[in-house]
Amino acid sequence: MVVAIDGPAGSGKSTVSKILARKLGFMYLDTGAIYRALAYVALKKKIPLDDGKLLAELAKTMQIEFKQDEQGQRVIVNGEDVSEKIRTEEVGMAASKVSMHPEVRKALLGIQRNFGEKGNLVAEGRDMGTVVFPNAEVKVFLTASPEVRAQRRYLELKEKGINTTLEEVLKSVIERDRQDSTRSVAPLKPASDAVIIDTSNMSIEEVVNSIMRLVELWKKEKHTSS
Ligand code: C5P
Repeated sequence: MVVAIDGPAGSGKSTVSKILARKLGFMYLDTGAIYRALAYVALKKKIPLDDGKLLAELAKTMQIEFKQDEQGQRVIVNGEDVSEKIRTEEVGMAASKVSMHPEVRKALLGIQRNFGEKGNLVAEGRDMGTVVFPNAEVKVFLTASPEVRAQRRYLELKEKGINTTLEEVLKSVIERDRQDSTRSVAPLKPASDAVIIDTSNMSIEEVVNSIMRLVELWKKEKHTSS
């Protein structure tokens, strides 16, 4: 079973997906981390972010692993633990640029789908329900106002000791939304069969519970139809 969670930056995807995966006993796939890892390697190797061909080559050779430890999921790329390094706004913005190229998205499709082959999965990103897992059993699109999302991101970054202002984060959130929703391939949009949840005035627990209800509903329907 795949639970696909999509939505813009700061909509609550990561927090909610991690809790859901734990509650359901499913694997958790953070596809944003894959794009971020690629962007990180590209920045390090000084590969121009507008060179789709070169970036796709890099994506094909990139070794990415997710490792579980007591602090949560670690992201290892080409043997280097980049878990913290990929969380900056700089890498987020670079990930958004890298992810615009059709060749890059194509190169990363297989890696993402392989996780779906391994068993039950909660997958979060921008195109889980539309492109990567179009047959996902449950599809959710989380959203919230840009101001609420910027505030959440700001607090998150502050907690990590990253120095920034709310204005800067809001500007970055709006710019990333624009880039992600206007790109020609797999733009950020809800799948036609996704349930849209506006999390602006909801607690994490409320969001998790509403998705749990969707999962239960699907299980019940499957049970009665078989
Ligand atoms: O979710 P996160 O903020 O970590 O994603 C970083 C960037 O990676 C997004 O802004 C988006 O451009 C890109 N991305 C994507 N498709 C996904 C996941 C992330 O294009 N499935």
